[in-house]
Amino acid sequence: MAQQPVVTKNRDVPLDKIRNIGVIAHIDSGKTTTSERFLFYTGKTYKIGDIDDGDTQLDWMPQERERGITIVSAATTTFWNDYRINIIDTPGHVDFTAEVERSLRVLDGGVVVFDAEEGVQSQSETVWRQADKYKVPRICFINKMDKLGADFEATVEEIKERLGANPIIMTVPIGKESEFKGKAKIWDQDTQGVKYTTTDEIPADIKDKVTKARSKMVEQIAEHDDSLLNKYLNGEEITVEELKATLRKATVAYKIVPVYCGTSLRNKAVQPVLDAIVDFLPSPLDLKEITGINPLTKLEEKRALNQQETFTGLSFKIQLDPHVGKLTYVRIYSGVLESGSYVYNVNRNKQERVSRILLMHANNREEIDKAYAGEIIAVVGPKDSKTGDTLSDQDHPIILEQITFPEPVISLAIEPTTKADQEKLSYALQRLAEEDPTFRVKVNHETNQTIMSGMGELHLEILVDRMKTEMGMNVTVGKPQVAYKETITKPAVDVEVKYIKQTGGHGQYGHCVINVEPLARGEGVKFVNKIKGGSIPSEFIPSVEKGVMEATEKGVLLGYPITDIQVTLVDGSYHDVDSSDIAFKIAGSMALHEAVKQAGPTLVEPIMKLEVTIPEAFMGVAIGDISSKRGKILGTEKRSRAVVIKSHVPLSELSGYATIIRSLTEGRGVFYMEPSHYEEVPKNVIALMLKK
Ligand code: GDP
Repeated sequence: MAQQPVVTKNRDVPLDKIRNIGVIAHIDSGKTTTSERFLFYTGKTYKIGDIDDGDTQLDWMPQERERGITIVSAATTTFWNDYRINIIDTPGHVDFTAEVERSLRVLDGGVVVFDAEEGVQSQSETVWRQADKYKVPRICFINKMDKLGADFEATVEEIKERLGANPIIMTVPIGKESEFKGKAKIWDQDTQGVKYTTTDEIPADIKDKVTKARSKMVEQIAEHDDSLLNKYLNGEEITVEELKATLRKATVAYKIVPVYCGTSLRNKAVQPVLDAIVDFLPSPLDLKEITGINPLTKLEEKRALNQQETFTGLSFKIQLDPHVGKLTYVRIYSGVLESGSYVYNVNRNKQERVSRILLMHANNREEIDKAYAGEIIAVVGPKDSKTGDTLSDQDHPIILEQITFPEPVISLAIEPTTKADQEKLSYALQRLAEEDPTFRVKVNHETNQTIMSGMGELHLEILVDRMKTEMGMNVTVGKPQVAYKETITKPAVDVEVKYIKQTGGHGQYGHCVINVEPLARGEGVKFVNKIKGGSIPSEFIPSVEKGVMEATEKGVLLGYPITDIQVTLVDGSYHDVDSSDIAFKIAGSMALHEAVKQAGPTLVEPIMKLEVTIPEAFMGVAIGDISSKRGKILGTEKRSRAVVIKSHVPLSELSGYATIIRSLTEGRGVFYMEPSHYEEVPKNVIALMLKK
């Protein structure tokens, strides 16, 4: 891919002039177009790339261009009025939730983009909750004001109702749909059109509305500051500076969410959002400090977020780059990072070399010598660092909170076509797994097949695509397989297994008694040792545990992993000569399977949250189809020109759903799905599966 010329030079920017932000949104609401425009107006790109032409700066992987979705969080640095804005591009498709999580972890603020016609869509809701979890202050941009059916007020209302946020209207649209011209900037009652500098009179027909909106806005801001509130109540004039300062405080404290509107595609009213990023979203200084655990003392420690402090950074993304090799994206929380130095990876207890530090644009980069607290950079050199690892100074180690990733729900077998591909396969898969912590690879030793697992059909499809296009491999893949699990429905007590073998001289003796009981969904496997009086010597207990754990990898019904079960070791016995680790391991393993058989074994399956948006005319067929897939309709909602059907459907019934919904709705339906929870498979379905 052609390298773009570097158009800005790294400058030393004071911390209070740095903004680390992410643009987050439901797929198709215009996140990419908006990010693109940010880069355009800040002078990073000279040409406006249009997503529909497959030509944008941030989406640079070929698959993304084809699909028009963003997969990789590219970190991009740009400048707006002397402020450095680092944009972390977050993915818009739910199969990549983990990417969103990992970017949210290192952001200081978010711009949430909505489609003015669609309003608050389900993924906005999911991402909003994630942003709540990481306490990310936000501003909202209601995009696509030019679209037929655009409804600013309704969307603001939904932000309040569905997201439980406290929106404050900063802009009032002038016209809408094809008549949308721009908006009035309310504070100073100027208007801003396309050119950012043009100011028009506020059109007479909305003057009243603007005046009302402004006084509502002033009131909402004043509520967050006693002296302003007094002034407001006494009818005194409040300056724009006072309003801005208070609004900034309230946004950073995430009590209020400023809302803007515009249309990225038509280049209207995007710059005010850039101003808002600078004016209202936090700088790294607003965060003040970060807490972590000292791995030596196990005690909590804090780091002030400045460059005088010792170095602390979080690796939040690994990317394998064809030119420079492995790139580790790092958010620096404290201290200074210098190229040519070493950093300590606390999670892996390893010194890592920092050979180069790069400031990243989507597909070009600028080499710098030093990077400071508050910055987001990519480092070349580290070999073993993974997503979520903390990097620090070896004398002052600290582990920041780790990023948690969801378990994969779907897998497929992959086979190389030629001998050459066979040799490349494990390397290629390892590379992909390194970049993507939600992607897992393992070899099934019984069938000798290589199995890849991930978060959804699309997720795996894209990875297979990358192997073909980026790595030039020829592979064939099997049908996607759902990640079923086995569990139990009732307790079983005092299940006893004696493993005794007399073979010539030295025999084997392992004996244990266990209880099992069901745990709640998602709790996994727990092993509890309740042996008293040494009926099994303590040195053998880990072997029993190992046997139990290994046995849970393969269930008793169809060989799926056993989960959500507590295993308690209650009794046993040993033999002075014949007892061994291996004998107790085998006994533990056999006991687990025996106990599970007695405890009402059953199968659980991943259930997806499925949301289908279609013209009303197709509602009947779509609901009928969902019901025929063992789906449960949770509700339907009417939108301006469509209906949204919300449901829970077993993943096993949803293979190829994209094609199905297209043919059912003459190509007019769209859907969105994400893993929701696990549920027991109905008895008749299990019976059918057992027969196969
Ligand atoms: P993302 O999936 O959120 O990154 O959204 P994109 O930026 O890829 O945009 C999705 C689609 O919406 C593309 O076809 C864009 O051209 C279109 N789009 C983006 N912004 C606007 C807008 O302001 N108005 C209209 N009408 N379409 C837009």
